[in-house]
Amino acid sequence: MSSDSTLLENVKQQLCTCSAGLKLTPDMEAFLKMPMRELYVSLPVHMDNGSIKVFKGFRVQYNEALGPTKGGIRFHPEETMETIRALAALMTWKCALHKLPLGGAKGGVVCNPKELSHREIERLSRAYIRGIYQIIGPDRDIPAPDVYTNPQVMAWMMDEYSKLEGKNVFGVITGKPTILGGSEGRFDATARGGLYAIREAAFKLGVDLKGSRVAVQGFGNVGYHAAYLAKKLFSCKIVAVSDSSGAIYSEEGLDPEDVSGHKHSTGSVLDYPGAKNITNEELLELDVEILIPAALENVINEKNAERIKTKILAEMANGPTTAEAEEILISGGVHIIPDILCNGGGVIVSYFEMVQNQASIQWEEEEILDRLEKKMKEAYYSVYDFSIKNNTGMRQAAYTLAVGRVVEAMQLRGWI
Ligand code: GLU
Repeated sequence: MSSDSTLLENVKQQLCTCSAGLKLTPDMEAFLKMPMRELYVSLPVHMDNGSIKVFKGFRVQYNEALGPTKGGIRFHPEETMETIRALAALMTWKCALHKLPLGGAKGGVVCNPKELSHREIERLSRAYIRGIYQIIGPDRDIPAPDVYTNPQVMAWMMDEYSKLEGKNVFGVITGKPTILGGSEGRFDATARGGLYAIREAAFKLGVDLKGSRVAVQGFGNVGYHAAYLAKKLFSCKIVAVSDSSGAIYSEEGLDPEDVSGHKHSTGSVLDYPGAKNITNEELLELDVEILIPAALENVINEKNAERIKTKILAEMANGPTTAEAEEILISGGVHIIPDILCNGGGVIVSYFEMVQNQASIQWEEEEILDRLEKKMKEAYYSVYDFSIKNNTGMRQAAYTLAVGRVVEAMQLRGWI
C-alpha cells in the first residue's frame, strides 16, 4: 500500500489482520468491509448575499447489529464519502469495544465553516437534517458533533428534527447544550477519556506523568482540552501545540488556556509570546513522552514514522496512523493507544446523554466522570491484557475484541 493510502484501506486492512483469529468466513469479512446503508444528499442553502448554494452531504450507517447507529457529523471542505465510510466503520468498532449498545455511523457535509456566516451554518445544519431525516431518530441513528461541528450546531439540528416530528425529540442527537438535554461532561469527554487511558498506559510503562513532555497536534475541542487536562490533572508539561496554520514549541511548557486566548484574538496559535514557531511535521517528531494527534487522519505515515520519538502515542483523532507507519512504530517500541480505544470518551458520554434523555433526567457531573473513568479503564485493560496474552499490537487487540462482539451479535441475530 502506498503512503497516501486512504483511511478506508487502512480500516479494511486492519479487519483482515484480525479475521483469522476470529475465524471469519470470506462472506462475513466481505460484509464487515461494507456499510449496511449510505445516503448522499444535495442541500440547497440560501446564502446571506441572496444566492443559493448547493452543498453535498453524506450519512453512512455502517453496522447496526449491536443497536441503533451512532456517530458524529463533520463539516469539512475536503470531506469525501470514502472517508466518512471509514469513520463509520471506526465508530462501529469503537462502540463495540466500549460495550455500548450501539452500532456505528458517521456523517459529513462538504463545506468550509470558516467561510460561512453564523446564519449560513444554521441554514446548512437544518438542511442537512431535513436531508437525512428519514434515516435518523433516537432508536435508529443518533448523530453528534465531530470536526468543525459543536453544541450550537447540535441544537439547531435537534430543533429541525423536532419541528419535522411536531414534538420535542431531544434524544435524536447528542453533544447538545446542557440546557437542551445535553449531558454534563460531554464537552471535554473525548479528551478526558483519552487522558484516563494515557494514565493507565503510563502506569504500565513506568512513565511518571508529572513533568512528562506532551505534544498535541490540533487545537480544536479535543486538542485544547487534552492539553488543558494533561497539565491540570497530571501536571504534564505541554511543550507543543498546533492548529491548521502551524505549531508552537516551548521547552519550559505552555499554558493551554493562555494559548487559547491568543488563538482567539489572533486567529492562530502562531507567534505566541515566548514560544518558537515550528511546523506541524516538526511537532510530530519532537522528543516527548506523549504525542497526541487530535486533528485529522493519516498524519503519521511511512514518511515520518521512523522519526517519531514518543513513548506513548495517544490517538485522540480518528485514524491518525497509517498501517505502514504502525509497523514501524511498533518495532520502535512506541506504545500506541489506538483511536477506537483512546477517543471513546466522546461516544461514551454521548451514550450517557441518550440514557438521560430517554429517562428525562440529568446526572451530576461527578456521576458522569466516575462512569466515564470506569469505562475507559475497563476498556484499556481489556485491550492491554489481550495484547499481552496474544502477543499482538494494541490496535489488533482492540479490533479483535470489537469486531468479535459485532460478529457475535450478528450470529445471535441470525444474520450470518
Ligand atoms: N465524533 C465523536 C467520535 O468520533 C463522537 C461520536 C458520538 O458522540 O456519537 O467518536
